[in-house]
Amino acid sequence: MAVENLNEPSNSEETQAAEKPSRTRTRKTAAAVAQPTVANGSVALFGIAPYQMKAGEEYMSDPQMVHFRRILEAWKADLMQEVDRTVNYMQDESAALPDVNDRATQEEEFAIELRTRDRERKLIRKIEQSIQAIDDGDYGYCDTCGIEIGLRRLEARPTATQCIDCKTLAEIKEKQNHG
Ligand SMILES: [Zn+2]
Repeated sequence: MAVENLNEPSNSEETQAAEKPSRTRTRKTAAAVAQPTVANGSVALFGIAPYQMKAGEEYMSDPQMVHFRRILEAWKADLMQEVDRTVNYMQDESAALPDVNDRATQEEEFAIELRTRDRERKLIRKIEQSIQAIDDGDYGYCDTCGIEIGLRRLEARPTATQCIDCKTLAEIKEKQNHG
């Protein structure tokens, strides 16, 4: 059960999404696109509408796998672009700043950027694991108890590897372990 926790950044992306409005951004970029946006009570990722199940369609049918692969790949591409953008930005900006105060501000800004990128790299790894799970036919099932994670939860959190019950339980245990 501890396995997912090891893989997971200390802030799950669920938490990050919830905290997003207050998240420190030092510049305006397309980073916002990396976060799911809520539309009509469901989550629309990268303009990909939530999956509509046909009558009698079984869970994790081929079209569903295609659907989630599209979301995961779009998400990953977006994050990777954002990481590249930061590297370029930091190379450009660090070129010439003679003022000491400007330098200090810039270093602080870079530190924040680097922490954000670090979280994004971890998220990219999780996304890659989810794409691998699709390849392996494991996607959409709880790593812990094996039941279906469910389309709704996956739309909201495409990298979920646990059902909501196991996830909740793991979070309670996590809290107990860390006070
Ligand atoms: Zn479970």
